[in-house]
Amino acid sequence: MDFRISDELESMRKMAYEFAVKNIKPTMEEDEKEHRFRPEIVKKMGDQGMFACIAPEKYGGLALPEAHLAATLMTIEVARISPSYGLPFNLQMNGPQTVLLKYGTEEQREKYLPGLIAGTLKGCFAITEPNSGSDVASMRTTATEVDDGFILNGTKTWISGVPYVDVGIVYAMTDKAAKHKGMSAFIVDFKTPGITQRAIETKLGLYCAPTGEIFFEDVKIPKSALIGQKGQGFEICMYMLNFTRLSSAARAVGVAQSCIEEAVKYSNEREQFGQQIGKFQMIQEQIARMYVEHEAAKLLVLRAAWQKDQGINNTLETSVAKYYAAESANFCASEAVKIFGSYGFSSEYPVERFLRDAKSYQIVEGTSNIQKMIIAQFVLGYRKV
Ligand SMILES: Cc1cc2nc3c(=O)[nH]c(=O)nc-3n(C[C@H](O)[C@H](O)[C@H](O)COP(=O)(O)OP(=O)(O)OC[C@H]3O[C@@H](n4cnc5c(N)ncnc54)[C@H](O)[C@@H]3O)c2cc1C
Repeated sequence: MDFRISDELESMRKMAYEFAVKNIKPTMEEDEKEHRFRPEIVKKMGDQGMFACIAPEKYGGLALPEAHLAATLMTIEVARISPSYGLPFNLQMNGPQTVLLKYGTEEQREKYLPGLIAGTLKGCFAITEPNSGSDVASMRTTATEVDDGFILNGTKTWISGVPYVDVGIVYAMTDKAAKHKGMSAFIVDFKTPGITQRAIETKLGLYCAPTGEIFFEDVKIPKSALIGQKGQGFEICMYMLNFTRLSSAARAVGVAQSCIEEAVKYSNEREQFGQQIGKFQMIQEQIARMYVEHEAAKLLVLRAAWQKDQGINNTLETSVAKYYAAESANFCASEAVKIFGSYGFSSEYPVERFLRDAKSYQIVEGTSNIQKMIIAQFVLGYRKV
């Protein structure tokens, strides 16, 4: 594999970083304190074509030949500035767009892709429920088929984008007894009567990224909302997670990079015992390990993106990248806090925020344990795809 990125990718990477510095950074610290999400930033990201990488031009996309590498590089750059604003890549693109492009009808694509790409329709994907996390097939939300549609009932929780969602991929059981074979996927317009969105205000981090609960009470959706076939929802969900995992891994890489940048700056500024702390061998050991962990994670993530662009089925490599990037981000953030001493414990510097935000990567899109489980299944030969 050639590790150089093309000039086009480099200019997209640079554009994303400059965009984040110009549009997110100026109000970021204030927004973090106020727990404020700015939907207009998502719209601006859409205007920049950040969610256009994978979809064909007829829907407003760019269908880039290196779509996943481009999206991954841009996600890293935005997350370097703000992990919270790394999330829309998943909510607008890697989640709903990959699903509609692979399993959706032409009508569904024409109706929803342009808005998701432009950032005018805020997207989400809703799997998790109060009693169903890692064990996706145990979900209790039901979609009962009637003559002219389906009736949704149930509760989703920890859904990114809520309470600002316009449209989302919702997973529900059409046949509970059939377990994972009884799950179906739907594209749901969140203006449909019976849907309530409520923000979760008790989060550890990601203060500028909304997360919340969705309540479905006798929500009547048309037959045309079904994605793929009835009972295909589990397959669709696993397919989607294979792309959303890559995006969360990219965010983790962005956070780790910022932790190193901040730690290096501080190590060269802070003096103790008459010299910069960066001159102490133990600080150097910390910086060296952070750097190596981050480089390894970055390469794994870029490899996974490159494989997707080549059309390679890479469930294993995506889980490896996601697991390693999540752990690396947490390691780098924790070391950065240590290097900053008491200032690392203060919200005056960004590293405490990075540590809080980085915890999310060990949980979302399948926890670190779930990634290890997938990896081990492949390595032990119990699973092939
Ligand atoms: C910030 C944030 C954003 C999120 N956004 C979304 C979203 O947009 N859409 C969505 O659907 N969900 C979202 N989630 C939910 C997330 O996907 C789930 O939290 C995650 O899948 C884990 O589920 P759980 O929290 O119920 O934990 P559980 O599944 O209850 O797990 C609890 C613990 O048990 C471990 N565990 C579980 N099963 C096994 C096993 N088989 N082997 C070993 N260990 C195991 C886990 O690793 C974990 O440590 C989000 C969560 C967060 C924190």
